[in-house]
Amino acid sequence: MPSSITRNLVTGGAGFVGSHLIDKLMKSGEEVICLDNYFTGRKINIEHWIGHPRFELIRHDVTEPILLEVDRIWHLACPASPVHYQYNPIKTAKTSFLGTYNMLGLARRVGARLLLASTSEVYGDPEVHPQPESYRGYVNTIGIRSCYDEGKRIAETLCCDYQRMHQVDIRIVRIFNTYGPRMLPDDGRVVSNFIVQALRGEEITLYGNGDQTRSFCYIEDLVNGIRLLMDGKHSGPINIGNPVEFKIRELAEIIRTKINPQLKFVNKPLPDDDPLQRKPVIELARKELGWQPKVELEDGLDETISYFRKTIS
Ligand code: NAD
Ligand code: UDP
Repeated sequence: MPSSITRNLVTGGAGFVGSHLIDKLMKSGEEVICLDNYFTGRKINIEHWIGHPRFELIRHDVTEPILLEVDRIWHLACPASPVHYQYNPIKTAKTSFLGTYNMLGLARRVGARLLLASTSEVYGDPEVHPQPESYRGYVNTIGIRSCYDEGKRIAETLCCDYQRMHQVDIRIVRIFNTYGPRMLPDDGRVVSNFIVQALRGEEITLYGNGDQTRSFCYIEDLVNGIRLLMDGKHSGPINIGNPVEFKIRELAEIIRTKINPQLKFVNKPLPDDDPLQRKPVIELARKELGWQPKVELEDGLDETISYFRKTIS
């Protein structure tokens, strides 16, 4: 019998962003199917919902088709950290292309709305700063980040073509660097690396001279933004990120001061194609979704540090 409760499919639901999204959907009384192949996701992130009557867990790889009856597809499945997406770049490209293709096919068949988790990486190493949605990017097609950057670009293209050809109801969010509890300690991303290094009393690894910039959004702000996008009328692409920009060296200094001011920095080579600067323009999100980030970096870092204190050895 059809239910009046919204049925959500969250691909990549056992990962960092997916598991926080699932918490919000479950707390709102909705039904959730979490689909994941556990490449970078972990059951522990969603274990508190296992056994709940509105929750189901499926081990599945999005590069293979699947048929499920759902109303909304939150398509997040894809490794997000450079270390993970470069581990098997061909698989990353397949996950982005075939995974999005399969999920759009499912959305078309069952009439579901699909939200794609795209990324600020579609802007590449941007020559326009800060980055509005209208900027078309400066992306290397043949570098070590291309599997991810170009994968997300073709995923956006597929979404728009399914919308034009088959009237699939799509939403595209371009997520900027997001951090918070449940990042993997060996994730390789900068916030988790610096916190884990500092807690273990190790040197903090600055890639390059640390002058490159990023803008860090706390996970709770991101999840609120993508829910507003899914619920609203604007298809996107819409940037969701925190427009306060920091040099990576400044981030290292803030984290060192919070955990252990004695620690030393060590410089390591800057990875190829590492973007020099990144900061979102969020006027579209403000206007269309009434969204803006609320959590200051200092507060978000405190939450994240306290999570890692409890979980790492
Ligand atoms: P994550 O690595 O923690 O989560 C990704 C999840 O997808 C994991 O649970 C992983 O096991 C799963 N997965 C990967 N490949 C899969 C496949 N082929 N089939 C099924 N499941 C698969 O990363 P995250 O930070 O939670 O990112 C979630 C999404 O948000 C990704 O699409 C990512 O590109 C996007 N995003 C994240 C950020 C960020 O800062 N966290 C920034 C931009 C975009
Ligand atoms: N970075 C760093 N030390 C680390 C990990 C990352 O200096 O231990 C730098 C990295 O070179 C990049 C920035 O921090 O300039 C953000 O890296 P991350 O992998 O978190 O995200 P992305 O590069 O995908 O934005």
